[in-house]
Amino acid sequence: MKNRFLDSRRNRYWVFTVFIALMAVVGILLSNRIVKLQEDYVEKQLAKQTQSMAEVVQERLIAELSSMDVVARLIETGAVETVEKMEGAGVLSGLMALDGSAVYGEALDFSVYEGVRESFRGSEAVSCDEEGNIVFSVPVFRGDNIKYVMYRKYAVDELEQFFLVDGCDGQAKMLVASGQQILYADARWEQSDLAMLKDEGVLETYEKVHTKLNIAPSAAEKGDFGGESAYLFAAEISRQGLYLVGLVPRKHMEAGISFIVMMVVCVLGLLLILFAVGVKYLFSAEEKVRESEALRQAKLAAENANRAKSDFLANMSHEIRTPINSVIGMNEMVIREAKESNILEYAKNIEYASKSLLSLINDILDFSKIESGRMEIVDADYELSSFLMNIVNMAQVKAEAKKLAFHVEVDKSLPVMLYGDEVRVRQVIENILSNAIKYTKEGSVTLTVRPRAEGENFALEISVRDTGIGIRTENLEKLFQDFERLDLVRNRNVEGTGLGLAITKRLTEQMHGSISVESTYGEGSCFTVTIPQGVKDTRVIGDFKQTYREYIAKSVGEKESFTAPDAKVLVVDDNTMNLLVAKKLLGRTKVQVTTCQSGEECLALMQKEHFDVILLDHMMPEMDGVETLERSRSLEGSRCRDTPVIALTANAIQGAREEYIRLGFRDYLSKPIEPKLMEEMLRKYIA
Ligand code: ADP
Repeated sequence: MKNRFLDSRRNRYWVFTVFIALMAVVGILLSNRIVKLQEDYVEKQLAKQTQSMAEVVQERLIAELSSMDVVARLIETGAVETVEKMEGAGVLSGLMALDGSAVYGEALDFSVYEGVRESFRGSEAVSCDEEGNIVFSVPVFRGDNIKYVMYRKYAVDELEQFFLVDGCDGQAKMLVASGQQILYADARWEQSDLAMLKDEGVLETYEKVHTKLNIAPSAAEKGDFGGESAYLFAAEISRQGLYLVGLVPRKHMEAGISFIVMMVVCVLGLLLILFAVGVKYLFSAEEKVRESEALRQAKLAAENANRAKSDFLANMSHEIRTPINSVIGMNEMVIREAKESNILEYAKNIEYASKSLLSLINDILDFSKIESGRMEIVDADYELSSFLMNIVNMAQVKAEAKKLAFHVEVDKSLPVMLYGDEVRVRQVIENILSNAIKYTKEGSVTLTVRPRAEGENFALEISVRDTGIGIRTENLEKLFQDFERLDLVRNRNVEGTGLGLAITKRLTEQMHGSISVESTYGEGSCFTVTIPQGVKDTRVIGDFKQTYREYIAKSVGEKESFTAPDAKVLVVDDNTMNLLVAKKLLGRTKVQVTTCQSGEECLALMQKEHFDVILLDHMMPEMDGVETLERSRSLEGSRCRDTPVIALTANAIQGAREEYIRLGFRDYLSKPIEPKLMEEMLRKYIA
């Protein structure tokens, strides 16, 4: 399981690593794409700007030609002298006749200035010579015919007024070229720069720009210029065969946009990291889910194992109770019939040992039932004085055996009848009383019972004080833990399992009560239990001792009194030993006892004769007690239709009485059979 766990973890890490690598490749491709987009964007922007700059130059050229046009019209109307006014430093103007001779100024060579030739054909034109001078020429008409061509020639130094433009915030170097010839280059160009323009790489870039110009009025292209990355851009200055060309460093153009791109890349990177973290988190969350699932399974397995343990303990104790039942029963007969004192002593020892064993088994049964949550609290009415007397009697005997003084203080104002789980309250009190006697060598044990108001409700407060060994302060915390025995060296000769107080505490809490302890090591302890109980009869209990004495007298008086020689009792149990025990125990009541060993036989007997009481064992092979009872209801010719059937069971589960009554039994007797209880039950149902 562990290996599978590790394998799946390793696999997941592989998947995670491959995923991150993939994301990195995607990131690189994406950033390349972004850079390409960025370059395209810059090129487009630059082309647009270039076009605007070319338009500015174009307008200047057109403005010049327009002003010449005005003069040409004046000449047309005979005002030739106007031409003279046009002259200035660096500017030559002239008027040429059709034969190429100068009417005014100097004659220009047609073959050099193609524009002049064009003007003789009627167009305005701009042309240049090899030195870089520019000639603007316009035709001068006479009527419909061209009479002259007027020109203005600007020397190289004068070209700035037409061609100087500011591009890209003054960061671009600009020039105007005609074909391969540079007419004008602004002051930002160094000689070396201009020389560089003839480099192969630059020419290649220019070629690309030129190609783009075939389909667009302006274009830009990234390239390498003398080791510096820059954009070369160009636009045609319309109609004139001139080109505006510029160069701007790449870093200038991309400064702002690079920042944005960087931001985008950062954001994408961050997103990627977040995504990776998210995926990692998902993986680890999934892992946690798996782990918690594994834990849940383990917990379930542990719970199942614990339940199996509790069930096993419950079954075992149940199974052990049956043979103990036989031992105690047979022993009871030995005690009754023994004539020799040593036999009686052995039998008493057997009685003591088997009762200890039984109480141990009961503890384990209780504990496993509490553990598996099957311990139920069954409330019913009970009479307080007899309840207390039972407890006092039990403790009295034990205390006397240890030569301890036993004091009982019962508050006179306690109510006579209470409502609660008498059996479990008694179990709690008996536990702490037995402990007090068990852990006290000399001195006294005092039982105090008081009423206690808990708001509007009534609670029984029982405290047991002893002058015993006491408990060390550091051990007080461990006192109520399962299987915890304290002071083992000192108590090594004292019998115990360390379960008593754990059961006591859990039972008390199940009845919504509380338990506390005060103790001084070496001096003694005081355990106090408070258990809420209902009040059934508000009359007060009065003098407890008086009631106690009355009870003793009454019980002594009744002890041997019950005999019913006419009564017929049927005892059904598959175990012959149990039948023998029951028969013997019933002997002194003088009832007529019939026994049988199975449900079938029981039914047959029921058809044959009438019984006053039937004691029916629950656990029998083939047809068990419950089934037998059920069949007896519809049994034809049954002579025991109204006979009370009492369940005999080794199952001492709390609430068993209610369960058996629900199943149709009149009552139940727990095995090992208490002779007194059986007698009382017979008296109750035979009378
Ligand atoms: P045990 O079966 O050992 O008596 P309990 O759960 O009843 O188990 O008690 C747990 C431990 O608490 C005992 O082993 C004993 O050391 C201590 N103890 C209980 N009652 C007293 C008492 N009245 N005086 C001194 N020690 C006590």
